[in-house]
Amino acid sequence: MTDYLEEARKLAEYTSRLRQDFHAHPELGFRETRTAGIVAQELTEFGLEVHTGVAETGVVALLEGSQPGPVLMIRADMDALPIQEETGAPYASQTSNVMHACGHDGHTAILLTAARILHAHRKDLAGTVKFVFQPAEEGMGGAERMIEAGALENPRPDLALALHLWNDKPLGFLGIPTGPALAGAEIFKITVHGKGGHGAAPHLGIDPVLAASEIVSALQSIASRNIDPQQGAVVSVCTIHGGEAFNVIPQSVELTGTIRTFDPLVRAKVLERFEVIVYGLAETMGCRADVELNTLTPAVVNREDIAVRVQEIARQVLPDARVDARNNVTMGSEDMAFFMEEVPGCFIFVGSANKEAGLDAGHHHPRFDFDEKALETGVALLSAVAAGFLKA
Ligand SMILES: [Zn+2]
Ligand SMILES: [Zn+2]
Repeated sequence: MTDYLEEARKLAEYTSRLRQDFHAHPELGFRETRTAGIVAQELTEFGLEVHTGVAETGVVALLEGSQPGPVLMIRADMDALPIQEETGAPYASQTSNVMHACGHDGHTAILLTAARILHAHRKDLAGTVKFVFQPAEEGMGGAERMIEAGALENPRPDLALALHLWNDKPLGFLGIPTGPALAGAEIFKITVHGKGGHGAAPHLGIDPVLAASEIVSALQSIASRNIDPQQGAVVSVCTIHGGEAFNVIPQSVELTGTIRTFDPLVRAKVLERFEVIVYGLAETMGCRADVELNTLTPAVVNREDIAVRVQEIARQVLPDARVDARNNVTMGSEDMAFFMEEVPGCFIFVGSANKEAGLDAGHHHPRFDFDEKALETGVALLSAVAAGFLKA
């Protein structure tokens, strides 16, 4: 039996070198040309069949085991964020206002190393591993574009895996939920139309600022009054724009924000209340509201039997890890949801914070950085899980 933790440790320097290089040269969604170039070059060198330019900068590679069997897809995301890095790390971003502040540099390095290890052990595999390196995870629709470009065909995966380095938890934590993992996200834009006029004569106009304020407050009653407190739901109004001058009541006010839920029934209830409140309050205040509501991503939901098997393998290969099976890990969202709507699978959270070393800033923070020990955990876990599901 191969000790995949030992294999990951032997390649720790390789993984770190890749990660620090990606970190120093971050690229925004659909512009990951340098990153994708390195990914394709490494995979080709290992001896995999590599397809580039899938949805602009995506890369898909196939590894055939020694015997036929199921197709397992493993996905990593490659994009960075429009943030000015403030870590001061020796490998800090060399591009101003672009930063790997979510750990996708780590995900890409982890999956490349896992591909290298699995290729070296391909005689132990019955089936095919499909490595999917995806662009533009950060709210830009990279996963959907990959699916449109055929990433789930030829061959069609039977199951799907992905992980996220997780700075909300310390090293050693392994979150492997058996059900919902990340929330589904909707984004909304509300325009409240009133009738502008002089600030000193509000009775001659219809004030959309007051109506918008009532709507913002009332939307907060959905999560607190309409949804079971044991279920997750968030309604956040994040921008409010209207007016130009202190003495002019504006024509309209615009609100934007996001809704997060795990459960389809909870989601339906939230959306129903959302519309009643927005249209009803606008009307009550004499205004009219327009609502644009779009789904950004569905919820990421693990399939129980797959997750339980991943937990078992995790306990074997990483005996020191603390496997946490709880659901509803975060109200954050992930576009892995689109792959997992098509293919059943498991999404894993790998604890990566180290408070003593000052590596515990949250995701998307300008000082975000993680403990690279977590890379080794990720490599060992993905390799062992792939080998476990495709056991020859
Ligand atoms: Zn992110
Ligand atoms: Zn992320």
